[in-house]
Amino acid sequence: MPHTALLDTATPQDERQIRHLRGIMPAAIESMELQMERALEQLRRRAEPIDKYIFLSNLRNTNARLFYALLLDHLEEICPIIYTPTVGTACLEYSYIYPFLGTTNQPDGLYIRAEDLPAIDQLLDNYRAALPADPQICVVTDGSRILGLGDLGMNGMGIPVGKLQLYVGAAGLDPRRVLPICLDLGTNTQRYLDDPLYLGVRHRRPEDDEYYPLVADILHAVHRRFPQMLIQFEDFSSERAFELLKRHRDEMLSFNDDIQGTGAVILSGFMNAIEQVGKPIDEHRILFFGAGSAGVGVAKQLSEHFIRAGGLSEEEAKRRFWLVDSKGLITHDRGDRLPEHKVYFARDDNDGQQCRSLDEAIEYVKPTALIGLSAQASTFTPEIIARLAALNERPIIFPLSNPATNAECDFETAMRHSDNRVIFASGTAFPAYTIPGTNERRVPGQGNNMYIFPGLGLGAVLAQPARVTDEMIYVAAAALAGARTSDEVAAGDLYPRIQRIREVSAKVATAVIRQACDDGQATAAAAIAAARSGDAALLAYVHHNMWHPTYDAPIHDASTLS
Ligand code: NAP
Ligand code: MN
Repeated sequence: MPHTALLDTATPQDERQIRHLRGIMPAAIESMELQMERALEQLRRRAEPIDKYIFLSNLRNTNARLFYALLLDHLEEICPIIYTPTVGTACLEYSYIYPFLGTTNQPDGLYIRAEDLPAIDQLLDNYRAALPADPQICVVTDGSRILGLGDLGMNGMGIPVGKLQLYVGAAGLDPRRVLPICLDLGTNTQRYLDDPLYLGVRHRRPEDDEYYPLVADILHAVHRRFPQMLIQFEDFSSERAFELLKRHRDEMLSFNDDIQGTGAVILSGFMNAIEQVGKPIDEHRILFFGAGSAGVGVAKQLSEHFIRAGGLSEEEAKRRFWLVDSKGLITHDRGDRLPEHKVYFARDDNDGQQCRSLDEAIEYVKPTALIGLSAQASTFTPEIIARLAALNERPIIFPLSNPATNAECDFETAMRHSDNRVIFASGTAFPAYTIPGTNERRVPGQGNNMYIFPGLGLGAVLAQPARVTDEMIYVAAAALAGARTSDEVAAGDLYPRIQRIREVSAKVATAVIRQACDDGQATAAAAIAAARSGDAALLAYVHHNMWHPTYDAPIHDASTLS
């Protein structure tokens, strides 16, 4: 009988009998594969991405196993719907599509307002009551910087919901044990404040002096209630993202995916890129275009590699980086007050020279690698790419801004203007490129955060350290870099194929647990014992703890709950 509590066309005859379903369902008893075929057909009939999104939300809410089985089988088709870019549209329209996202047994997440603080334990109980056990991972946003779309207020809830689906799909977290949280603290976006259909609170966001203590109180309450839960910060405005991480990362098991997850996934591609270039690491000069949470987070993570693998001091490592923002090269003497996150990499060796444009910065720095995290479309012009290719035998060019319409350049442009010598990774997937007149087909790398955060989260949940350390993030990046097959390496790919995501996540999780054990940080006895038995045993332990979308998998079903 534990076969399935959920009723669909796979429900066997004997169970239909017991549940008084004979005659009120069609005769066919189907396999998961057949049901997937039907679901896929229904998905593809919908022309608009947002309609596909709504269809998939409904499918997840009514038949989670089928949804996740479909996701794993068609990652390339479905990820862009449940996550970027379509999740961006879904967030913009969240208050319009909300009631149609499905009648669900499990609430879509927790909406916490400032005025809820005195009753926060009750809110947490309300959510907990719908789960079979405590949640293991929560993704929290305040909606203040959703993707590249700005302040979407409460509508940002689509992001934690989407990200947790990727945790389930890519790393096998139990879908019943995840907690999306939206801190509905207001929005500064006037059109939402004026919109009668907007579902969030109708006032502006609090200032810092009110904001930080409020968020701290909420986080502390959440952490008190679920002390073992990993908290992932997502899509907070840049300055607050850094500040929240600084304030809370030592207090609770937590990380910020925009800063640390992005940093790790790009570091991983970068490790493989510099291996292809073949130059000693300390000869690299890295120019960043964009210095927000992603730009600074990635630069910090890469500089960590210069220290660990290149043997540089922290000061020497920092010197290999130049960051450009909307005002030009970030220097100490350019005459504006730098926000705190930009201070670390600000140059003081520019002898008064200021570079106000990317072109000037390229001439000044002569970079070996150009990394775009500016959200400014087509700013890596053909001339800039050609210049990088003139400076370097193998130029590293990573236009990482999302969505594709924000990318600093596309793959074809980068190939054409670098005599096909570019080493390339982007934020969004670009089509493969066949070098004209040849059969040589090149697949661009995609620095997709999905390569890191699911495995990092799974590893942290299984090992139960008190905090997510820099070492854990670094080994996660290194594990990803090492997760390519020999075919992928031979093809010059910087990242593994996304279809192997579960395998990749397992390797990332294994590295994280190993690191937590080596540092004496792991507290989960089972994980520690598995780690003692060797890497193969630990990898097997990780796989064993993944939830799989099969008919044996436990799944949320209101009828099984008291
Ligand atoms: P953000 O905090 O808004 O930062 C954007 C940065 O770009 C800021 O430093 C901004 O300068 C700079 N900028 C804006 N216009 C510019 C211009 N005309 N010239 C030079 N610099 C300019 O955003 P974020 O969170 O860091 O994200 C940035 C981009 O990275 C987004 O498109 C996001 O989708 C993408 N991203 C990709 C990945 C990935 O590929 N895995 C992960 C995370 C984020 P000021 O500071 O002067 O305003
Ligand atoms: Mn994000």
